[in-house]
Amino acid sequence: DRLLDSRVKVLSDVEVNTDEVSIARVYDYFLGGKDNFAVDRAACAAMMEVVPETPLLAQANRCFLRQAVRFLIGEAGIRQIVDIGSGLPTAGNVHEIAQEIDPATHVVYVDNDPIVLAHARALLATDARTTVINADLREPDAIFGHPETARLIDFSQPFAVLLGGVLMHLEDEEDPEGVAADIRGRLPSGGYLLVSNTCDTGEPRARELTRVFAESGMGTRCFRTWEEQIRYFDGLELVEPGLVPHNRWRPGPDFPAPDNPAHAMHIGGVGRKP
Ligand code: SAM
Repeated sequence: DRLLDSRVKVLSDVEVNTDEVSIARVYDYFLGGKDNFAVDRAACAAMMEVVPETPLLAQANRCFLRQAVRFLIGEAGIRQIVDIGSGLPTAGNVHEIAQEIDPATHVVYVDNDPIVLAHARALLATDARTTVINADLREPDAIFGHPETARLIDFSQPFAVLLGGVLMHLEDEEDPEGVAADIRGRLPSGGYLLVSNTCDTGEPRARELTRVFAESGMGTRCFRTWEEQIRYFDGLELVEPGLVPHNRWRPGPDFPAPDNPAHAMHIGGVGRKP
C-alpha cells in the first residue's frame, strides 16, 4: 500500500478515499475486520451509541448469508452465484462456503466500492471459478452484461443472486423494488433470489439509527418495513421459513446471541423462481 495523502490510498491500482465513510468498511469493522479507517470507525461509534447491538446485527446478517449459501448449494442444487453488494472479503466468504460443498461452484462478486475490488482481487488471484467486478446494483445491465459474469454464469441454467444488506442503501427514487424486479426477471426457472436488510419494526431506535445512517452518507431509507420488503420477492416461492429475522432463518450452531430481541431489526429471506 502506498499512502499518497490523507484522502487517497492506492491498493492494487485502485484508488480508495479515506475521507468518506464506506459502507463496505463500516460492515467490515462490525464483523471484526481490519480494513477500515478512522472515518468509518467514527460512523460505527455513532451507530453503536444509538443501537449498541449493531455489531450483533451485522454478524447475524453474515450468519444468515452463510446458512443461505449452504442451503442453495447443499439443498437447492445451485452451482452459480452472483453476489451483489458482496462487501470486503471476510471469514467464510460466499465462494469458500459454496466450494466447500461443491468445488465446481462459480461465484461472481459485485460491489460498487473500489476497495472491495482491490482486496477481493488479491484473495481470488488463483481461483479461476470466482471473480470480482466493480459495478453498481442500480445498473443491472452492466452487471449481467459484464464479460466476467458471462464467462462464469450460464444464464440458461439456474443461478442465485444474493442481495445481502444492499437494497437498504438505495433511496426510494433509486427504485429498489424496480431493481429487485429487474433481477427477478433475469432468473431462469429454478433460480433463486436472496434478500436481507435492516427492518423498520416501529422501534424508535430504528428511526434514530436511520438518522445516523443518513448523516454518514449511507442512505436515508435503510429501514423499510417487512410489508415493503416482501415485495422484493413478488412472483417467487419463498423458501421456509420466509422473510424473517435472521435468528429465525435456519440458524446454525455459531449464531450469535440467538435470543436477543434486537434481531427483529434485520430480516432476510430466499425466494425461488417457479
Ligand atoms: N452482502 C454482504 C453481506 O450481506 O454480508 C455485504 C453487505 S454490506 C452491508 C453492503 C455492501 O453493498 C457494501 O460492500 C457496499 O459497498 C455495497 N453496495 C452499496 N450500494 C451498492 C450499489 N449501489 N451497488 C453495488 N454495491 C453496493
